[in-house]
Amino acid sequence: MNDEALKQDIELADAAEACVKQLEGEFGTASSCTLSREELEEVRKGNATAFSLSPVQVPRKSLAEACGRLLQVLLEDSGEAIDGETRAALRDLDWEAALPRNAEALAGKAPEELLEQIAESDVPGLSAEATGLYVIPVVTLAIRVFVSRAAREASSLLASLESEEKRFAFSSSCPICGGTPSIARISETVSHGSQRRLVCGTCGGTWLWYRIGCPSCGSRDSKNFEYISREGEDGEALYVCHQCGHILPTLFRKDDIEDDPVTAADTVRLQALEDEYLETKA
Ligand SMILES: [Zn+2]
Ligand SMILES: [Zn+2]
Repeated sequence: MNDEALKQDIELADAAEACVKQLEGEFGTASSCTLSREELEEVRKGNATAFSLSPVQVPRKSLAEACGRLLQVLLEDSGEAIDGETRAALRDLDWEAALPRNAEALAGKAPEELLEQIAESDVPGLSAEATGLYVIPVVTLAIRVFVSRAAREASSLLASLESEEKRFAFSSSCPICGGTPSIARISETVSHGSQRRLVCGTCGGTWLWYRIGCPSCGSRDSKNFEYISREGEDGEALYVCHQCGHILPTLFRKDDIEDDPVTAADTVRLQALEDEYLETKA
């Protein structure tokens, strides 16, 4: 990817992120995650997700509106990247009709299931590929509008459990919503040394995980892993698992992460690094 294309992608991601913030304000998503001590323990053990025990209210109409507004940002800022036919089909999309009937029940409880249902459904005028490229990211961001605050709260609750003996009890899928980790953040902490957190690609929640290990195949053998980075760039790298081929984009941060969230620009840069790596491998 050249610098200009990267710059454009970062601008689009920034615009989408700003739109999510704006929508959060408008919808006044005050729903919070309340878990009892016992429920939190169930989450820690991997028996339930935080959202299955304490679902976030996501009104269908508001979700559809958020999808529409986020899609608008995508269409306005994506230049010529989307072909005319797909663009027209996206513009005509009736979100209230396109969202599955149980979208309201699933969005704040099992968002990953909702995304799977949409990926498998026929969205009018769109190929499965276009659905995956445009509809799924838009719905994911729209879900974020409603759940990110509760996900942050649940992440803090989980962080409070991370005493020495309990720290690595979380599963490799998101203990908050059941989603898949999209990024890892490694930070240097004062009391616990270097720690790795996984960041959920769906709800944005974070959880402490093994410093060495693949969240996809579960391998924990350090011989299987390699960090790939750009020369002179020590803030980000790809964590490649040679056992299963999984790539975990990773950010290295000096401090504890709570007040230093992953930005849209971080995500785009890591995606570009992954694309470059896959190209050299092909
Ligand atoms: Zn999640
Ligand atoms: Zn693996």
